[in-house]
Amino acid sequence: MTNPRGPRAFRPSRVFMGSLSHGEDLLAGLTSICRQEEIRSGRIEGLGAVSKANLGFYDQDRRAYHSIELASPLEILSLKGNISLKEGEPFVHAHLTLSDASGRAFGGHLALGTVVFAFEYVIEAWEGPVLERRFDETTGLFLWDGGGGL
Ligand code: ZN
Repeated sequence: MTNPRGPRAFRPSRVFMGSLSHGEDLLAGLTSICRQEEIRSGRIEGLGAVSKANLGFYDQDRRAYHSIELASPLEILSLKGNISLKEGEPFVHAHLTLSDASGRAFGGHLALGTVVFAFEYVIEAWEGPVLERRFDETTGLFLWDGGGGL
């Protein structure tokens, strides 16, 4: 029997490199590039620094994100994310690992309110099936559906 959430094949089509502006919202900036370039699936990675961060941690019992607000300058050790569709629009899901002046690391789900000090990205855009997020009763999250062509 086929797993409806099993792997689907994509082909790399375009690769973008660039940087976001000082003071820009990190998540909003990445989402806007994906919408402008009509990237419906792909992946993102990035490096840089933020002047403050707002991360999410998903509370599995309460089925809600709680905010981790870090109100100081931090290095971005790693941003990794993917791009798919939610309500028909390109949607960025990304996680961040950050470090402070003593090298301690923090991390979480990238949320609005994370402000760019400097940021360099690589975005790979892929062609292939439509990958759409839909509400999942089991987890309370918007996960990739099983349709593939809906
Ligand atoms: Zn996440």
